[in-house]
Amino acid sequence: MVLDAAHAPLRLDERKDIPRPKESEVLIRVHACGVCRTDLHVVDGELPSPSLPLVPGHEIVGSVVALGSDVRQIAVGDRVGVPWLGWTCGECVYCRSGRENLCSGARFTGYHRDGGYAEYTVADERYCFPIPSGFTDRDAAPLLCAGLIGYRALRMAGTGKRLGLYGFGAAAHIAIQVARHRGQEVYAFTKPGDDAGQEFARTLGAVWAGGSDGRPPEELDAAILFAPVGALVPAALSATTKGGIVVCAGIHMSDIPSFPYRLLWEERIVRSVANLTRQDGDEFLRIAAQIPVRTATTAFPLTQANEALAQLRDGRLEGAAVLIP
Ligand SMILES: [Zn+2]
Ligand SMILES: [Zn+2]
Repeated sequence: MVLDAAHAPLRLDERKDIPRPKESEVLIRVHACGVCRTDLHVVDGELPSPSLPLVPGHEIVGSVVALGSDVRQIAVGDRVGVPWLGWTCGECVYCRSGRENLCSGARFTGYHRDGGYAEYTVADERYCFPIPSGFTDRDAAPLLCAGLIGYRALRMAGTGKRLGLYGFGAAAHIAIQVARHRGQEVYAFTKPGDDAGQEFARTLGAVWAGGSDGRPPEELDAAILFAPVGALVPAALSATTKGGIVVCAGIHMSDIPSFPYRLLWEERIVRSVANLTRQDGDEFLRIAAQIPVRTATTAFPLTQANEALAQLRDGRLEGAAVLIP
């Protein structure tokens, strides 16, 4: 499924040639590919300069069917996951300081490189993860971005007892399981009036769930914003206690309205989380298998990618959409 131009529906393309893996790449037969909000931002033209025409998708689970000449760590038949981080330079100041997520030359899957809305894809073996055996292909797919970015956001939010999650979709439904495993109380915020979303959060162990226009019953130690809504930044700040941390976990957000300094005063922190490192992936997949994290997914045939994106855009999904070729 190919994006030719921003705002255009994806187009079903029958390609005669299966892609060939370069030296350090593997050819993967895609079993499942999750649909991430970032895909929506790419399709909706909210992220600059995607490599068009583009096959989106960066929550890929598949099996390796061919190897490039320099591949050493992966064998034919291995089941692997391919995340958003597709390649880094290894040489810039960020790469050399354990922050490859900020690499100035980074190439991202389903954005600069063709991704997983396809029957086959190629990926650099150094950026693939082994998928723990306890997960089916479909259940594992959302771990590769929703899970991973949520995990990085959780790390940035610290270990304070009361954690708010704003936007209760694919990422939050995984993050709540990790947070509860760490002994945190989770306060879930949905769109006002989204009773089903609030009930979904309660079934996953949220101690409180309500609309994002309301206030939690207790002050929060930290909050993670998964909803791409800038107005939630001052709202979350006003719900956090002294020294509280507000983490913006999405790649794109509407403008943040101005707000009085007193909301930031007393050492509150606002920060973003960008991309992932391979260390995040290794850590998260190990923890996800230990807990074990259970993902809620809705499967769509690959050819219904536009419908899956539309349902995500309209907030009609509970959990994560996964495309099955
Ligand atoms: Zn770099
Ligand atoms: Zn993503």
